[in-house]
This record gives sequence, C-alpha cells and structure tokens, in this order.
Amino acid sequence: MNHRSMLRALAAVCAAGLIACACQGAGATGDAAHVRHSPGHAAGGTPSAAPSPSRTPSSAVANSNLSQGQTVVSLTFDDAYEDQWRYGAPFVAAHNMTATYYVINSSSEVPYRCCMSWFQLRVLQSQGNDIGSHTISHPNPATLTRDQMRQEICGSRQDMIRHGIADPQSFAYPFGIYNRTVEDIVRQCGFNNARAAGGISVSNDTPSVLNLQTIPPADPYALGAIPVDGSHPMRLADLESFVTASAAQGGGWLPINFHDVCDAGAADFKKCISSYGPVQDTVLSQFLDWLAAAGRPGGAPGGVVVRNVCQVMNCP
Ligand SMILES: [Zn+2]
Repeated sequence: MNHRSMLRALAAVCAAGLIACACQGAGATGDAAHVRHSPGHAAGGTPSAAPSPSRTPSSAVANSNLSQGQTVVSLTFDDAYEDQWRYGAPFVAAHNMTATYYVINSSSEVPYRCCMSWFQLRVLQSQGNDIGSHTISHPNPATLTRDQMRQEICGSRQDMIRHGIADPQSFAYPFGIYNRTVEDIVRQCGFNNARAAGGISVSNDTPSVLNLQTIPPADPYALGAIPVDGSHPMRLADLESFVTASAAQGGGWLPINFHDVCDAGAADFKKCISSYGPVQDTVLSQFLDWLAAAGRPGGAPGGVVVRNVCQVMNCP
C-alpha cells in the first residue's frame, strides 16, 4: 500500500471514529515532511538560535504536587522538527516552562535536514524538558507485526539512550494509532506513558464537554490530547478557549498536541504554515504569556499550570 492509499484508509478509519488520529499531515507529505531542509542552518555547524543551555527550570515548574481542581496544561510537540527548537523552545524556556518532545529516531540521525539533532535534544533534556519517543521511523502501528513493533518501540528507546538521552519515559503513537497490543509493547519496552491524539474534545476548535485526563490517568498508555485541526494553523482564541473551558469544568489534565512552529521571517514560512496543524511562533508566544499570567488580569484562569508529561506522570 503506498503512502497515499494508506492515508486514505487511515482517514476513513479516523472519520469513523474507530481510532484517534494525528500527524496525518506528516504522513500526507510523506517522508518529505521529515527531511525538510531548515534554512539558514550551516550543515554540521553549531545550532543557531539555541535556547540557553545553562537555563534550568525554575522551582515553580519542577515536579510538585498537583492539587484537585487545577488545570494542568502539557505542551507536547510531535516529530521533533527543528523549527520547534528554533522558534518554540526559546519561548517555552523564557516562560520558565518545560515541554514534551517526541522524537523520530531516523529523522535525528541526519541532523539539520528536518529535525532536531541529538545534541539539540540533549540540550532540551538538560533544561528539564521531557524527551520522548515517536518510534524509529513513524510507521502505522496497525501495519506491523509484533516483532516489528518491538523493534520500532523498544529499538527507539535504546537508540535514544545510546545517543545520550537519559531514560526516555514518554511515548507518542505515530498517527495516534494504537490498540491493546501496542500499549503492552510500549509498557514492556520501559516507557511510563503513551500519548495518543484526540479523545478530549469532539471539536477541533470549540470545546464542548471536555473529556480531560485525570491525574493520575485511568490508562497512562492512552493519554488524550486536543485534536488540533490540521486544516489550518492553530488559533490563539481556540487554544485559550480549551484551557478556559477546562478550568470552568473543574480542572484536569489538558495535553496539547503541536507540530511545526513557524516564523514569519523564515524562508520556508509559507510551506511551514501550510503543514499539518502548525502554530505560528507569535501565537505560541502569546499563548504562553497568557498561561504564565494565570490568575492575573488578562491571563488564564487561576489555578492553571504548565507541566510536561513526565512531571504530571511522576516518571521515575
Ligand atoms: Zn508524528
């Protein structure tokens, strides 16, 4: 089955509501999405626009007891695109927040083509970010044998450790596709948690009744996330409305699923902003400003905090 027909089949299954789906866009553009060149980056050179390696998360975001009624937002970034490093990570660090990044190993083997290098990922981890796995090559788990799944999932974790990522504990299913067998393999491979996609709201833009994750979640290997609408860039009003609705509902855990982070000054901006579910860096920055001002005028509702997935899950 070629990529296009696989995606058509996936879309049909997604539309039927049989599975939660994400990253269709990454698949829709094929592997090209994972070998995109990042402009202005000298091959093999020192990464530019790097967040300060010396920054450590403040005690305010270090693992703390989360109380009942809090709204906990997790910023999760799929596919470890280098634009997340260039245009997202500095904002996250500047707000004394940390995020979860899900790595496709094969995309980080040849740095500076689409995705973060192992060096960049190690820097993010040293700053307190959660570096998780998104398999070795981003296959549809439903098409794999058990052995192939183990190779993609356990192999990814082992390869990350070989590249200096200490004890990866978080995992995200490619395309958000999973079943009990895949969950079991993820757990057996040594991961603490796994994020799917969707499952929190039926609408991509407007929160209806949100099926927020509890803390701890009922199934740590089936974590939901806001099902970002891939058909347009994420909008600030939509992001804020999900958080506000979560707080109004009495709080809970709201993982948000980001992909490309696009900067209007970048040469590839047009391509980036038309990719699957992208966010413009200015929108992300305004959203983080709003979250950081929780409980103050013009900010998110009181009690809203930002934690990465491993902080919420108390990863060992
Ligand atoms: Zn993905």
